[in-house]
Amino acid sequence: SHVPTIVLNDGNVIPQLGFGVFQVPAEDVTGVTAEALKVGYRSIDTAAIYGNEEGVGRAIRESGIPRDELFITTKLWNADQGYDSTLRAFDSSMSRLGLDYLDLYLIHWPVPSAGRYVDTFRAFQALRSQGRIGSIGVSNFRVIDLETLIADTGEIPSVNQIELHPTLAQRDLRQYDANHAIATEAWSPLGQGTLLDNSAIVDIAKQLDRTPAQVIIRWHLQLGNIVIPKSVTPSRIAENFDVFTFELDAEAMESISRLDSGKRIGPDPATFSAGL
Ligand code: NAD
Repeated sequence: SHVPTIVLNDGNVIPQLGFGVFQVPAEDVTGVTAEALKVGYRSIDTAAIYGNEEGVGRAIRESGIPRDELFITTKLWNADQGYDSTLRAFDSSMSRLGLDYLDLYLIHWPVPSAGRYVDTFRAFQALRSQGRIGSIGVSNFRVIDLETLIADTGEIPSVNQIELHPTLAQRDLRQYDANHAIATEAWSPLGQGTLLDNSAIVDIAKQLDRTPAQVIIRWHLQLGNIVIPKSVTPSRIAENFDVFTFELDAEAMESISRLDSGKRIGPDPATFSAGL
């Protein structure tokens, strides 16, 4: 396909544009994922806590797409952190997905107060050495969490999936990731839709005869982020994938980057401990 790829620090390759299924109801997710696969997405991002792994797995099987052409990510929920509980949670996710191999497993949140992400990552390493996972990474890790993880496990995670969009550009964390060959993956890349009527973005979209969502996805791609926009609407699923025949110039990139206010939409990783 024409989707650029990112080579991870373990040598595995991930499509730079994928499809996220947060908040897609279990009863809709098979159809929505099938639509994304039909349009051409080959990377799907789910999580145990989304409650829709089973339907994602069904869409994968029914698509008939060879398994090695797909890149499937799921995430370990907070309540399951710890060595043995991670091994069990992985088995449960895999049986819900109906897969015997996972491309990328992420620790969903660091939950620093629980102090369990190092043991959790050691279980990820064990599962990888059994050949059941390709790449192991983290989500919502701050610099301090990454430093602890790297010091205590001796391994640099392949991916850090973080809240990242024009109003939360995460300059410092992206720089830390880049310095350590950690790929940065942007969640809520469209700011959950809140950025689509921003006047700077609307202006650029008009100039380029593109949509605001396409402009924001281009901004991510040109920064080097892995990006996983979500939609349940077929026309938008297609629109968000149709981003490889135009470019933002330096001025447009700059004016979008000026929207950074450091304001989160989602929880603060320092304190978020849902499930525990
Ligand atoms: P998003 O930024 O992708 O925005 C999705 C929303 O934007 C849609 O529900 C819709 O309202 C709107 N939208 C999408 N495309 C549009 C278009 N072309 N035109 C108009 N409106 C459009 O938000 P998200 O779903 O929160 O994030 C994407 C993915 O990131 C999730 O599905 C999930 O896979 C992942 N995620 C991960 C975490 C984490 O903690 N690791 C947290 C949140 C999300």
